[in-house]
Amino acid sequence: MSRRLLIAGNWKMNLDSRGAAALARSVRHEVVQRKLDRDVLLAPPYPYLETVARVLEGTPIRLAGQDLSRHESGAFTGEVSAGMLIDLGCHGVIVGHSERREHGGDSDDTVRAKLERAIRSGLDAILCVGESESVRESGARESMAFVEGQLKAALANLSEEECAGALTVAYEPVWAIGTGRTASTSDAAAMHAHLRAVVANRYSEQLASRLRILYGGSVNADNAVDILGASEIDGVLVGGASLNMESFGTIYRAGAA
Ligand code: PEP
Repeated sequence: MSRRLLIAGNWKMNLDSRGAAALARSVRHEVVQRKLDRDVLLAPPYPYLETVARVLEGTPIRLAGQDLSRHESGAFTGEVSAGMLIDLGCHGVIVGHSERREHGGDSDDTVRAKLERAIRSGLDAILCVGESESVRESGARESMAFVEGQLKAALANLSEEECAGALTVAYEPVWAIGTGRTASTSDAAAMHAHLRAVVANRYSEQLASRLRILYGGSVNADNAVDILGASEIDGVLVGGASLNMESFGTIYRAGAA
């Protein structure tokens, strides 16, 4: 089954409001002009969501938060709820990014709760999973087992109906994020095939065959054609290279007919 590619930009904690608006306008121009057969999503920092939402209004470009609270509302100072993201125009949210796991202390249990909160609130979720450098050094089989464990933990309580259409998985080896190193396309494709098989076993072949699995980790203008050319890879989650329109535009167009 052919899955429509998703090109997602995670701006992390970068830009200011003018820079965010300007970059969003450039992405809008590119996407509206080219009309390629692929989806685009932007995840700006929380304070700029509304600004970017205004720029993207009326376009097919999706807006996403970079994280959300596991709680619905209440006394959780500094947190942002699913409802707030929706209120600001978000269609989706990134959950379990390795920087949230590492710096925000998100455990597998927190990621599970956030994923459930996102999907049950009506947001599409990009669930990030990926092994650390030490796990990768212990071998491909160990890496697959580790990432499988993260995926199963996150999906523990979600039904097939809840996941259908709302869930995207992003395989992001931690050692490749922001380092300039990427997994080889064949290693990434093997991991994607493994994760798809895990989803087929947990739910159904139908859900697995429709599930988009993105690759993330130092994707740039030079390696995007190769990565997006792999049939198991259904798009990319781009950090650093999404902050520059020249590189993000090249990634968006990579391999397109
Ligand atoms: C990311 O933030 O998800 C990411 C993959 O970052 P980078 O592209 O900079 O490695």
